[in-house]
Formats: sequence, C-alpha cells, structure tokens
Amino acid sequence: MTAYKDMTKEELSGVKEELERQFQEVKAKGLKLDMSRGKPSTEQLDLSMGMMDVLTSKSDLKCTEGVDCRNYGVLDGIGEAKQLLADMMEVPKDNIVIYGNSSLNVMYDTVARSMTHGVMGSTPWSKLDKVKFLCPVPGYDRHFAITEFFGIEMINVPMTPEGPDMDMVEKLVSEDESIKGIWCVPKYSNPQGITYSDETVYRFANLKPAAKDFRIYWDNAYTIHHLYDDKQDYLLEILMECKKAGNPDMVYKFSSTSKITFPGSGIAAIAASEGNLVDIKRQLTIQTIGHDKLNQLRHARYFKNISGMVNHMKKQAEILRPKFDTVLETLDRELGGLEIGSWMAPRGGYFISFDAMDGCAKAIVAKAKEAGLVMTGAGATFPYGKDPHDSNIRIAPSYPTLEDLKVACEIFVLSVKLVSAQKLLGEL
Ligand code: PMP
Repeated sequence: MTAYKDMTKEELSGVKEELERQFQEVKAKGLKLDMSRGKPSTEQLDLSMGMMDVLTSKSDLKCTEGVDCRNYGVLDGIGEAKQLLADMMEVPKDNIVIYGNSSLNVMYDTVARSMTHGVMGSTPWSKLDKVKFLCPVPGYDRHFAITEFFGIEMINVPMTPEGPDMDMVEKLVSEDESIKGIWCVPKYSNPQGITYSDETVYRFANLKPAAKDFRIYWDNAYTIHHLYDDKQDYLLEILMECKKAGNPDMVYKFSSTSKITFPGSGIAAIAASEGNLVDIKRQLTIQTIGHDKLNQLRHARYFKNISGMVNHMKKQAEILRPKFDTVLETLDRELGGLEIGSWMAPRGGYFISFDAMDGCAKAIVAKAKEAGLVMTGAGATFPYGKDPHDSNIRIAPSYPTLEDLKVACEIFVLSVKLVSAQKLLGEL
C-alpha cells in the first residue's frame, strides 16, 4: 500500500479518477443512510421490552420507603433505584440523587443553578465578569452547547490517550479564578472511546483550583458500556479519590440509563459530596415535588440488582460489537497504509473518532452526504463547532442495521480517499 503523499502527481490523479468513478456509481444508487447520532438500534431497544411488563395493574406499587409510587412523595429517588444507580456509579447510596429522564438535563440544571445562585454559597456566576470552562477536545457537542448557551467561554484542552492534557489543566485551573469547570467523559469518551488513566484521575482529584467554586463535571455516561467480555477498561472512582485528596466537593458525577434501557425514558442521577447535595437539594425541592417514581420502580424491579444490569449490557454488546468491528475492519482494510487518516479502536462506548488530514473533515462529511450518508457535522466535537484543524469526524455505528452500516462504511472510506486525493493535488 503506497501512502498517497508518496505517489507522483500522475499516480495520484489516476487513483483519484478511479475513486471519482466509484463515487458516481454509489451516488447513483440514491441511498439514505445515517451514522450521525449515538442512538441505540431498534434491536437494542427490543432488549429492554421486558421492562414494560414489570408493572401491571396487579402490581404492588409501593417502594422500599413504603410510599405509593403512583402518588407524590420521595424527592430524591426511591431506595431501590438509588441502590441500583449507586452501584452502577460506584458510589455510596447516600451520595446520590435520582433525577428524571436525562442526565444532560441534570448537567444543564447544574450550570443554570451555578449561574443564578452560585455554588455552595459563592457568588453566582452570572454576577461575574467572566466565567470559563475547560473543554477536552474532541468532546461531546451537547456539553459544549450548554456552556455556550450560558455565555461561558470555552477553552480547548487536547485529549491524549490517557485523558485530557493534565499539565495544561493543572496550570490553567491553578492560575485562573474565572475557570469554574471542566467537561469530562472519563470512560469510553465521546467521541474517542478513551478511558482516563489512574494517573489522570489522581491528578484531577488533586487539582488546586484558584476558584473555590471550580467543579469537575464528570459525565460517566458509558460506565458499564463495554464492547468485549475479555477487554474492558477500568476507571478509578473519582468521588473517593477527591475525598482522599481533601477535595470532597470538587466533583459532580453524572450518569443515566439512557443507553442501557430507553434513551429519553430512562433514569438519570447525580452523585456528589454531602455538601454539594445540600446545595443541589435546595434547588430540587423548589423545582419539583418529585420525579417519575414508577419509572424508577420499573427499572429497579426489572434489573433487580447491578448484576442484572451488567448481564443486560452483555446483550447490548453482542449487538454493538459486530458494528464496531465492521467500521474498524473497513477503516483498516481501505485506509491502512495510505496515511490519510488515523483512528483508535475503543473497547466500549458509542463512537469511533476519525482524524482526517488537516483541512479535510468538512469536505469529507459533505462528500458522504452527496452519496446519501449523513455523518455528525464536522466541527461538532469542538466548542463553537470550530475544529481548528478541520480534521475530526465522529462515527456513530450503533443505529443502522449491520447491512446498512457496511454500505455506509464503504461510502465513508471512499469519501475520505477522494477528498484526501483532491487535497494533496491542491484541488480542495
Ligand atoms: N453524556 C454523554 C457523554 C452522551 O454521549 C450522551 C448521549 N449521547 C448523554 C450524556 C445524554 O444522556 P441523557 O440521555 O441521560 O441525557
């Protein structure tokens, strides 16, 4: 396999012409494919259908507290749901509050509360001249959208295979009091599938921020979302590490069952120190009389305990694994050795991150669209939608059927090759 950059102009032009021909052939098929969002497939959703039968008109609908789940009561989550999610999030049951159907909603609320009311007695962020967040990149577009919405300035921090560049994080948070938070997806990160190393977690827990209201937004969305039985990442538990480091209040941990049961109809939770939870509950008690306890009960009774959930995730993995393997095999087979892109093979999560040659991502996504394949918009993995290198593309293999995914992957690699050849020939 000759790298494109090592080809003569004539050789590369020949390759490009052939790619052009193949592209027109695929385009003529008028396909309609989507690899843009990390949504579970119908087959995955079907795995949780048993949950619909757990509660019937004959069920006893009292939770462990003895409260009738059909009625008001129990602000911070029923005991059995708290236990299940506490085990999933690897924290004590007393450190958790169960919310509604979306962890993103909890993150939004957390930023909103900090803006209007401050963090544990500190000045509300809205009263400050400047508020900044660190954003490991590439990252999750909806995190960046929240901070952008509130006018919080976002600073890119490059990701490494071990997590965010901690030298940079340590330096920035210790020097700049206006930095109030950092977005983290510490396990099987969105989009790279990276799990933070022990050293990274340790350095996070030992940060010495200039701002006392600085918080780590630890979004553990993919905590039990492994793809393989024999190759699983392990993440050090951050709440305990922060406590040990004398920084118990520095972190909020978020998670949900969105990609375990039904996205949009799952249950979400926050885990934090006692001090933070007092702060959080002060708002919660005004915000709602209580979240959906029937859904909490349904989840708790369906899984019974954390091993029920872990077993369920093995079934999810059986559906997802061949899809990830298809993408990775296609990338290896079609792009290996061409030196026009790089990628990593994640062991879990929902995404594969692809880095094209600088200045090519937007053109690749546009090319794929021309052939009927929708990808996540180029730039979406960066704050303000601006990828300074125009290089990163997020691949979401979960939603299409395996058959469609195979075709989608072929279109993607074809688009990468064609655009890269154009770039090297100075035609882009
Ligand atoms: N965090 C991350 C990192 C995600 O990838 C997603 C879903 N794509 C979410 C949060 C959304 O979770 P929820 O449905 O609980 O709002």
